[in-house]
Amino acid sequence: MGLADWRGMTPEKLFAELLGLGLKWRVTECVFHKDRRQVDLQLEHTDEVWKLERCPKCGAEAKGYDRTEPLRWRHLNVMQYRCEIVARLPRGRCPQCGHTWRVRPPWEGKAGGFSNEFEAFALLLLREMAVERAAQTLGETAPRLWRLLHKHVDAAYAEADFSAVSCVGVDEMSVRKGHKYISVFADLLRKRVLFAAEDRDSSVFPQFIEALEAHNGHRHALTEVSMDLSPAYLKGVRETCRNAAVVHDKYHVIANLILATERVRRREQKQRPELKDSQWLLRKNPENLSAEQTAELAVLTQGNLASVKAYQMRLAFQDAYRLEHAGAARRRLEAWCRWVRSGRQKFGALFVEMVKFAESVERHLEGILAHWKHRVTNAFMEGLNSVFSAVKRRARGFRSFEYLRTMLYLVAGKLRLPAI
Ligand SMILES: [Zn+2]
Repeated sequence: MGLADWRGMTPEKLFAELLGLGLKWRVTECVFHKDRRQVDLQLEHTDEVWKLERCPKCGAEAKGYDRTEPLRWRHLNVMQYRCEIVARLPRGRCPQCGHTWRVRPPWEGKAGGFSNEFEAFALLLLREMAVERAAQTLGETAPRLWRLLHKHVDAAYAEADFSAVSCVGVDEMSVRKGHKYISVFADLLRKRVLFAAEDRDSSVFPQFIEALEAHNGHRHALTEVSMDLSPAYLKGVRETCRNAAVVHDKYHVIANLILATERVRRREQKQRPELKDSQWLLRKNPENLSAEQTAELAVLTQGNLASVKAYQMRLAFQDAYRLEHAGAARRRLEAWCRWVRSGRQKFGALFVEMVKFAESVERHLEGILAHWKHRVTNAFMEGLNSVFSAVKRRARGFRSFEYLRTMLYLVAGKLRLPAI
């Protein structure tokens, strides 16, 4: 449109142009409600609407039948004024089969009550902030935005392609501390969340495999599954995708070890008051200690404490992960387990938790050593816990499984969502 054509432009023509309506629709009236800070754009279809419209049932050429009641769609604001499209949609009737239907207008989004552009803009905000806050920013209600989010995430998830998935990580995430858990499956190579299920027992595996195969993936294409030391997930792999190697990831193994050392410390603290404030000191690695903490540690080291022995053992265990070859790592870990048992002789009941950990290392040795063979980066799984914390914050007030899953897929699913 040349500059000259803008002369004599009415607001109705201007908005029709801005909306990109084409020939099928026209703006009949712009109603400006100053008090409500709102602009209503009244739209009406033209006869062109029937040109390419076909009966959705039998494909016959369509004919106009009647119109719906006036409907509203929230559109992008106009100069800070809320803007809504108002239209009575034409309904078609098929001369062949008698079917009637509502013609779908080009501006209509997925969630009902919003335009495409508004939905794309809302999704942009929802990727960055809590739903509650996006609702305030947009002058919408949280339930309406959730409906929009569910619709788009469901549609994009349905289109997701898992055909190249081979390395998978699974981990439990706590919804409420100590109460409810969900299991999250991730594609470790493309670094995205694939699937989430309620619970953390082996039943989540058949559900995951079903989702994987519904998205063109295949259970026998899985070469490895990375996980913690839980028997439930192990059972899940054995029962559903036995071709995959189980890799017990470093992050979880060491987390379990740190838990064991902390239990030693708590037990021993009852007899040795000097351990009272050492919890954080003994959780750190030496290179992260302040000068003051280093001095404190040196004092503790002189005291012949089970807690300090456990601390040193933890550092030695971590050190094994620096070894280059699986053979050397196997020898080191086996020797390490013997070392823990010798600690049991010296410290007795104080060392029970350490021995339990050593036994679990022996039981899961192949899976732990698989780390050296597969070398899948677990950084994504490690980061997932903080991603999930953010997901919970964003879904504040809406913490049922479906809401958390939708938010998780939005934030970490790498889905193809409409953009502005
Ligand atoms: Zn028909």
